[in-house]
Amino acid sequence: MEFLKNLRDPLLVKKLLKAIERTHTGKTVKIMEVCGGHTHAIVRYGLNKLLGELGIEFLHGPGCPVCVMPKERIDQAIAIARQPGVILTTYGDMMRVPGSSSSLIKERSLGRDIRMVYSPLESLEIAKQNPEKLVVFFAIGFETTTPMTAGLLELAIKEGIKNLLVHVNHVLVLPAMEAVIKESEIKAFIGPGHVSAIIGGKAYKPFVEKYKVPVVISGFEPVDILESVLLILRQLKEGRAEVEIQYSRAVNWEGNIKAQELIDKYFEPRETFRWRGLGDIPFSALKLKEEYSQFDAEVYFKDILPDKSSEDHKLCICGEILKGKAKPTDCKIFGTACTPQNPVGACMVSSEGACAAYYKYVHGLVSSV
Ligand code: SF4
Repeated sequence: MEFLKNLRDPLLVKKLLKAIERTHTGKTVKIMEVCGGHTHAIVRYGLNKLLGELGIEFLHGPGCPVCVMPKERIDQAIAIARQPGVILTTYGDMMRVPGSSSSLIKERSLGRDIRMVYSPLESLEIAKQNPEKLVVFFAIGFETTTPMTAGLLELAIKEGIKNLLVHVNHVLVLPAMEAVIKESEIKAFIGPGHVSAIIGGKAYKPFVEKYKVPVVISGFEPVDILESVLLILRQLKEGRAEVEIQYSRAVNWEGNIKAQELIDKYFEPRETFRWRGLGDIPFSALKLKEEYSQFDAEVYFKDILPDKSSEDHKLCICGEILKGKAKPTDCKIFGTACTPQNPVGACMVSSEGACAAYYKYVHGLVSSV
């Protein structure tokens, strides 16, 4: 707790704000925080308002894995869950994300065997306890959760489990950053903390060299984020564009080599993947390598998987928010027709979604989520 107290220390916050004020040139600077965890911290602690007054604007990026999952992948999970003898497992956040005409939670209420797991390894236990059933893990997430899915496969192979499949939806942060930087006026990025613990600071170097924008990998506490903004402003002032690691208590330059090896062992890049709101981005997601296709739900169920789905709700501007072109409050149905209890778009569903963060913190609206 002492540790957290320091990272939320009002005196330190004031000092950092003063340093930011001294360093900032006065021109409006648009900084994108990639990760939904950062979005929540920024709006929770009112940093967007504090820094907004100084001309520093936060753009909320595409780093919420639930928000970027396209409807067709959810439709595919639903189609699998409707097959007889299937138990579908996934993380809790995915349950309420609307597909074309249903969601996993609606399907569960209709009697499908859909189970929420906190760790992929729970799917292995479910498979062992239900040998007559086929267990399908609907795997989502950025590089943070990919090693855990790889670990599930590693154990399944070791233990000779035959009734387990994985529907792989693991996405990659750098292609998403490339997609958004081409479309908006981003001057710098606050790099994601958890993803970077896996891929390391060095993964951003080619990106920084290509686009000449600073990337500062940040922790999630107010002091972390303010210090990261200060590092960014110093770089901008000095005309530098570098990768810096503010979150050095969790992230290093090389990343987690074992986790990277595990990812490389089981997965390879997909040629293209459709992101909700961002469209098709080449080599932006992973798929299982062919030698592990016996675990691939997309191979096993290839004849029943829908590949087309309905458009997002016409009033939902989630895609524009994920590109940093709009704020949740720009949406006409924010907080009225769309709430965490009745989400219309994915950005309101996830605990990492920008709309959910604004609903909870900016407007002080009470949410049970
Ligand atoms: S408030 Fe709802 S409908 Fe509007 S952009 Fe956010 S998720 Fe979409």
